[in-house]
Amino acid sequence: MFCKLLILLKTQRPNMKNLELQFFLARSLAKLVQCEINITEITVFFFLETWTDFVVYLGDVVTANNIAIQNASLFWDKAISPTRDRGIPWATLFGNHDDASFVWPLDWFSSSGIPPVRCPAASDDDGCAFRGTTRVELIQEEIKSSSALSYSMIGPKELWPSVSNYVLLVESSDHSKPPVALLYFLDSGGGSYPEVISNAQVEWFKTMSNTLNPDLRIPELIFWHIPSKAYEKVAPRLWITKPCVGSINKEKVAAQEAENGMMRVLENRSSVKAVFVGHNHGLDWCCPYKDKLWLCFARHTGYGGYGNWPRGSRILEISEMPFRIKTWIRMEDGSVHSQVNLT
Ligand SMILES: [Zn+2]
Repeated sequence: MFCKLLILLKTQRPNMKNLELQFFLARSLAKLVQCEINITEITVFFFLETWTDFVVYLGDVVTANNIAIQNASLFWDKAISPTRDRGIPWATLFGNHDDASFVWPLDWFSSSGIPPVRCPAASDDDGCAFRGTTRVELIQEEIKSSSALSYSMIGPKELWPSVSNYVLLVESSDHSKPPVALLYFLDSGGGSYPEVISNAQVEWFKTMSNTLNPDLRIPELIFWHIPSKAYEKVAPRLWITKPCVGSINKEKVAAQEAENGMMRVLENRSSVKAVFVGHNHGLDWCCPYKDKLWLCFARHTGYGGYGNWPRGSRILEISEMPFRIKTWIRMEDGSVHSQVNLT
């Protein structure tokens, strides 16, 4: 079986109307060594304010190239723990920093010196090699300690070296009805290999989508970390003006290194409503692409990583009757903006 079912959560909130699922897109909870407490606080805040039913960690969950230990799973677990502690299910995918090798800071070799390193207690000679933690190791450890709340999956081995390739099905609250949506997660590379979605992944997506949704009747949403080159084409030049919707446009799109056909496939499927990416901390817009689907950034959510723009997260709301997919940005102070209807 290729898919993992996402069970529709029955919320107890009395004022829930058509809201069936609400997703929280988190990203860039980086440099955990320095900011564990802050990360916990902001994550809790978002969850309590938005009654989140599901969380997507959209990559760069940790900055492994800054973590001076051999195994980054401990820090990955720390980032996930507020979600797990509240019994909220989640899914993760990989960014370019998650499995990167440790990078020695240059200033450690000058006057400040190299700080004491934290090696495993029973380390052998290469125990402090800081080789980075592989994608497979990170995801295996996440699933093992998730209390069955993680919906992350190790994708097909033939797609190596990309790992976080899988599909989740959002079921209808009425089980006699067809699924409400399909969520596709893809690994856009970076870290231990080039920043691309490979031709093999494109072929995998075509096979999966044609099998699961041959008549295109189920709406489809796509998640990966590094924007494709199509994002460069639709990016606002200076100010964000219609038809784009958003609040910050402070960077150039840092796109994947090559386009191997994924966007062509997506634009030819009328069921694909939007692509969501992270990576650029200073961008939070959604823009239409060829009048066929939306290309959206999340926003810098965590306390690590570059940039000091106000933190926020992208919320995704799927309503079943009438069917509708809405998205907006929720800021750390609770304000919301940049709402757009994706259907
Ligand atoms: Zn990134």
